[in-house]
Amino acid sequence: MSTPAQLDLRLDNRFARDFPELSIPWQADTAPDPRLLLLNEPLAAELGLDPADLRSADGQLLLIGNRLPEGATPVAQAYAGHQFGGYSPRLGDGRALLLGEITDVDGRLRDIHLKGSGRTPFARAGDGLAVVGPMLREYIVSEAMYAMGIPTTRSLAVVATGRTVHRDALLPGAVLTRVASSHLRVGSFQYARATGDSSLLRRLADSAIVRHHPEAAAAENPYVALFAAVTAAQASLVAEWMLVGFIHGVMNTDNMTISGETIDYGPCAFIEAFDPATVYSSIDHAGRYAYANQPVIAEWNLARLAEALLPLFHDEQEQAIDLAMGVLGTFRRLYSDAWSSGMRAKLGLQSDVPADIADPLINELLSLLQEGRVDYTSFFRRLAVAARGQAELARSSFTDPSAFDAWLERWRALQPDVDSMDRVNPVYIPRNHLVEEALEAATAGDLGPVQALLDAITRPYEERPGLERYAAAAPDDFGNYQTFCGT
Ligand code: AMP
Ligand code: MG
Repeated sequence: MSTPAQLDLRLDNRFARDFPELSIPWQADTAPDPRLLLLNEPLAAELGLDPADLRSADGQLLLIGNRLPEGATPVAQAYAGHQFGGYSPRLGDGRALLLGEITDVDGRLRDIHLKGSGRTPFARAGDGLAVVGPMLREYIVSEAMYAMGIPTTRSLAVVATGRTVHRDALLPGAVLTRVASSHLRVGSFQYARATGDSSLLRRLADSAIVRHHPEAAAAENPYVALFAAVTAAQASLVAEWMLVGFIHGVMNTDNMTISGETIDYGPCAFIEAFDPATVYSSIDHAGRYAYANQPVIAEWNLARLAEALLPLFHDEQEQAIDLAMGVLGTFRRLYSDAWSSGMRAKLGLQSDVPADIADPLINELLSLLQEGRVDYTSFFRRLAVAARGQAELARSSFTDPSAFDAWLERWRALQPDVDSMDRVNPVYIPRNHLVEEALEAATAGDLGPVQALLDAITRPYEERPGLERYAAAAPDDFGNYQTFCGT
């Protein structure tokens, strides 16, 4: 059996060293009977880790923080956050730990993080635990996002702990080993600002610049440039979410990264029948985080980031606010440019199609999809088939296809590039009914359906025989889907 030293997991403890004010050194709970459920072998290779080592008994203990490589200082990170609009000054990792940072084979610094590793001083009323279903869910959905080229935290492993966790029912416990380019959030800056320690705020911003937005360092005002870089990254990220029909579900400021990676897959889901008002989260009663609200909420969260950073922008508050507003004012344009160019790609529209032709065409299509409650994902693949001459499948998406027929004629006249469409429109996404079915089986001990779903969604654009059910919309009897926060 290999020992941790032989496993050669070299972890830095940079965050713990640089930000003791934001770090509480803490240990993961001991799992009574750890059992590896999923290991992400390509990601392990990226990190320079040997999958066979990680599968060993010692490797599994490493993955859940029950054996610490030399030099590791696991910490619970402090952060604040606006949750559903209301400010919580002290959230922090209630059930998570930053194990440390690892330098990957490309020389990039990545966080290794645990979710479900036991109560920390930030746990409040929570039990500090996580269960198998939601951790597999984060693994599946984050890997689907990665496969579609959308910036995201990654999932290295899910290990069942052997502990029973009390939820509505008694459920098997698990720890997710998560990899991120960092865990700096808007809420990290809100927390740092609220301490009143301006040197802490400045050091945190400096580290975000070095780690995520190094080009900002050379700007006339690096902190304004940092804010501009985060604004641009989030505008582009949320545009990508919208284009694939992803609904994050809980876009609190503690769940928005400075890196521009999607983070914290809780009640997230992909839209099926197209409707901008769609909400899946059981706790989002007012629809604050509905599909169509996501760009507006991202902008709102960025305004909270600007408030936290204000003292770094300028000594005079009024001038600081002017600088913040100047950057914030670019968000809508950045977002709509990213979204429009993505939507043009989905429709195969060549770059010489002018906006006054493309924009109304796109808007009319979305109205048709909404009126017809058409399955968003499969429609774009069907459209490519229609462009190749077989329109029946796309037409059958509509109860009354007459308006669509007229639209189709206008679109085809623009000579869309059909092959390029199939490179941006996924066939396989983690559809809600498939995810639920897979998680139910996994909770009962059968990982087969999870593996099969992962196989489909990690090659999302490649239509393969035998995988038809992974491309199909939910059966009618699946009903109104609701998601629950991943606790
Ligand atoms: P999330 O909704 O996962 O982003 O979590 C929001 C906050 O609640 C964070 O501070 C989490 O660490 C904390 N939290 C969520 N679930 C638990 C739990 N079961 N035990 C302790 N803290 C939790
Ligand atoms: Mg969170």
